[in-house]
Amino acid sequence: MIHYFKFLICSGLGLAALVSSAESLEQHAHSHGAVTLNVALEGQVLSLEIDAPAINVLGFEKSPRNDAERQAVAAVDTWLSAGRDIAGVPRAAECRLQSVTYVAPKLGSGHADYRPRYTFRCANPAALEWVELWALRRFKDVEKVEVNVISASMQRQDTLAPGSLRVSLK
Ligand SMILES: [Zn+2]
Repeated sequence: MIHYFKFLICSGLGLAALVSSAESLEQHAHSHGAVTLNVALEGQVLSLEIDAPAINVLGFEKSPRNDAERQAVAAVDTWLSAGRDIAGVPRAAECRLQSVTYVAPKLGSGHADYRPRYTFRCANPAALEWVELWALRRFKDVEKVEVNVISASMQRQDTLAPGSLRVSLK
């Protein structure tokens, strides 16, 4: 199942590269306001990967120009690398955060994306009826959230309703 997940991500990047071959991967074409969430469930392991333009995480996308912006960058680094208040699942699923993959994006003169990845181990995955992307409460000016869900029983692409945080896994 992990292979399918990787394939989906890679094909997504390939498409972006085709659209804008002049840009490096770090500066791949993205739409401001558009966030992607990849959800994969394999056995007891729930993986969430968020891809968000820096402007929708920080409110700006270039190198920080003052102390307030430097503090905003540091606060986001702390938040995203800790993995708290990122996502919620039904309590009965008994999920625990197992690992975080987080590389702070390079902020310069071009586009930048935040792409944190979180892996949870859930003792009772049968109770995983939904995931809520709490991170959206803190993101700024998000207009569209595309969701890719992959599990043993489904492979689905969806768009979150405006104002909604919840992704159904049923
Ligand atoms: Zn941008």
